[in-house]
Amino acid sequence: EYLSNKIAAGEVVERPASIVKELAENSIDANSTTIHIEVEEGGLQKIRIVDNGDGIDEEDCLVAFHRHATSKISTDKDLFRIRTLGFRGEALPSIASVSYLTLKTCTGNQVGTAVVIEGGKIVEHGPSPSRKGTDITVTNLFYNTPARLKYLKTIHTELGNITDYVYRLALAYPSISFRLDHNGKKVFSSNGNGDLRQVIASIYGMNIAKQMLYFENSSLDFKISGYVCKPEVTRASRQYMSTFINYRYIKNFPLSKAIQDGYHTLLPIGRYPVVVLQVEMDPTLIDVNVHPSKLEVRLSKEDELNKLVTETIKLTFKQVQL
Ligand code: ADP
Ligand code: MG
Repeated sequence: EYLSNKIAAGEVVERPASIVKELAENSIDANSTTIHIEVEEGGLQKIRIVDNGDGIDEEDCLVAFHRHATSKISTDKDLFRIRTLGFRGEALPSIASVSYLTLKTCTGNQVGTAVVIEGGKIVEHGPSPSRKGTDITVTNLFYNTPARLKYLKTIHTELGNITDYVYRLALAYPSISFRLDHNGKKVFSSNGNGDLRQVIASIYGMNIAKQMLYFENSSLDFKISGYVCKPEVTRASRQYMSTFINYRYIKNFPLSKAIQDGYHTLLPIGRYPVVVLQVEMDPTLIDVNVHPSKLEVRLSKEDELNKLVTETIKLTFKQVQL
């Protein structure tokens, strides 16, 4: 099991940003309303995530570090109707196998639990006085996988990846308050008041946020909502397009193309819109189990969705008569 955790770690935890992703997704799945992420030296020195979610029972704490121990799915069928962000039960054991990890957690009903793990081996386990929620600190990342360590980029690049990911989470979850600190300084925060336009402003600035148009629409199988920018504030990079399916950030070329088609002739060549698109759909119509990173998905009824997106954006522009 120890070796298979390290192998899985190669897939699930490629770099500091993937650790932030997995830990923050666990916090979201645990119904947190505030998630505080602290990183040092691009996450290479330290990654800490503190949430105010459900916490983990003492009994479940040690289990959580076993491969494929997930509290989120219990039958094969569940795998095809995934509603939570996590479901593979791989993240915690994988991260713990390539770092020093400290977990403090409390459900609020009993005294909290603390676990210290070094390279996958539990070295300490006991009660911990804590408030409701979970506090995970990861240090010495990849200390026992030198090849992986060597492959990491500069602090600047790693921090960029982390920041980018936290932005997407904040865009997907305007009702959760996120905060990201780097080396003790605030990099980003969102206030969690549910206003997506405010999240857009805190990431891209007020000038862009002001130029965003709200849309929502639905078809038989899909409900879509979000913001598209007016054509005059399009960017020279695809990076400003954020697409989410059931609150999971995804990259899907046909869906991005459908958005751009909505601009029709209003989008100059080489320019891309600022867009936040949330798609809600029956989870049985989507396969997120394509890759451990869960970034790519397979969709049934793709054409219906893409048509809905293109038509809705066209309609949004028509309504404001550009
Ligand atoms: P998965 O998310 O795929 O279930 P993980 O390895 O990421 O697997 O986590 C294992 C389990 O640990 C989760 O199913 C959950 O029960 C628990 N867990 C992890 N992080 C948290 C957290 N921040 N708050 C509450 N429970 C958590
Ligand atoms: Mg998880």
